[in-house]
Amino acid sequence: MSDKRIALVTGASRGIGRAIALRLAKDGFFVVINYNGSEEAAKEVKAEIESFGGEALCYKCNVADFDECGRMFEELQASVGTPDVLINNAGITKDGLLIGMDREAFSRVIDVNLGGAFNCMRHGAKLMIKKRYGRIINISSVSGIMGNAGQANYSASKAGIIGLTKSAARELAGRGITVNAVAPGFVDSDMTAVLSDKVKEAAVQQIPKKRFGKPEEIASAVAFLAGEEAGYITGQVLAVDGGMSM
Ligand code: NAP
Repeated sequence: MSDKRIALVTGASRGIGRAIALRLAKDGFFVVINYNGSEEAAKEVKAEIESFGGEALCYKCNVADFDECGRMFEELQASVGTPDVLINNAGITKDGLLIGMDREAFSRVIDVNLGGAFNCMRHGAKLMIKKRYGRIINISSVSGIMGNAGQANYSASKAGIIGLTKSAARELAGRGITVNAVAPGFVDSDMTAVLSDKVKEAAVQQIPKKRFGKPEEIASAVAFLAGEEAGYITGQVLAVDGGMSM
């Protein structure tokens, strides 16, 4: 058991999740680095956390699998304790125009992005209720607020996260648990590295700050909502997007 507060970050092997894991470890949390495929990258995040005196463990779990998520929470509870903070960050894209999108591309993105958040909240909130404490932060997207051509599946999953966040916030507010969403705009990561220069330039034109965000800039908003001092904030969607969605 850890005597630190425990934060579980899904999809923490790379990108925004990695930055959130590092930031929360710096803020004094014991961090559970969830990953699915990138074991080596997850181990590197753990090593980086340990290099500055933080504590972490890596846990492989496909968040789209309901039972696997249940086992993850059971095993964490038995080993380090119940997560005080749950960051539902794991996400994928399978972009394409609506009229050409196959059913599998739609379902897979919904299953991982929205289903993954549901699975972890379903298992995690049950344990948090017993402690009468919890901070749940779901990573949505500017695409879930504004829509985005070529991302019908992804935008639907990210809009769904907002409804899930607000309903859970209403259900759990009386139990000492806050539930909020952070909606990043375009952020430098593997997810956006695949975009063509033309698409990136067009995106920058839509951003009042005229640049992509850094993973650390998303992590600082998450760290604020994960902290003790954010206890009166629940059911909110905090856009961290350089002004894109205002
Ligand atoms: P990324 O660099 O592609 O990293 C995605 C992370 O999710 C990886 O750590 C990956 O782990 C994990 N993951 C994917 N499927 C998983 C599964 N089934 N189970 C567990 N983990 C899984 O993406 P990112 O840009 O950091 O995005 C992080 C989150 O921010 C996503 O929810 C994304 O939708 C959201 N977001 C990103 C942007 C942006 O511009 N980058 C903008 C708005 C919102 P493995 O490699 O170990 O499988």
